[in-house]
Amino acid sequence: MTIEQAINRAQVLETGHFIFADGDHATLKLEMDHLWEHPAELATVLAALARADGLPPADVILGAPTGGQRLAEAVAELTGLPLARLERVPGGAKQDFRFVSAADRQLALAARSPRIYEDVVTTLSSVAGVVKLLEPRRQAVRSLAVWRRGQVKPAYRAGLADHYLVEQPILSLPPDECQVCHPRA
Ligand SMILES: [Zn+2]
Repeated sequence: MTIEQAINRAQVLETGHFIFADGDHATLKLEMDHLWEHPAELATVLAALARADGLPPADVILGAPTGGQRLAEAVAELTGLPLARLERVPGGAKQDFRFVSAADRQLALAARSPRIYEDVVTTLSSVAGVVKLLEPRRQAVRSLAVWRRGQVKPAYRAGLADHYLVEQPILSLPPDECQVCHPRA
């Protein structure tokens, strides 16, 4: 089973009318949470995330809350790699994270090659939010996401090498160009 097959079988791709966090509208959406209801497909994706083909070995892993961290927790269980836990900053912006404890922070900063997991990447903003907590000038920081669906903003790549299992764009449009909101007469 390829990753694309696993994603299709787990019905991760949803059709409808969706408004993304950045304000864009779309008729197709990736709902990675569905993967957790399909054990065989989930196992395929987790195995690929754990193997991380083409990436150097990681000594500590992290995950962008909340979807990425859920995957990172499963990868930690699968591989035995230590996991530095993160959480959203209460009342903060969507990409404001912090370590759950001082021990998590110590673990992450002691790593030479931390690896950040994420489920779906649009601009890479969430992963960049995790990089902010690290010290990329002395750490080799890499990220591995299941799917890149958008155009990464170059600024979010600072201090980071980003990797993906699947890179396939999913069209999204500004609200005034959305054909659901503005059907052609
Ligand atoms: Zn719309």
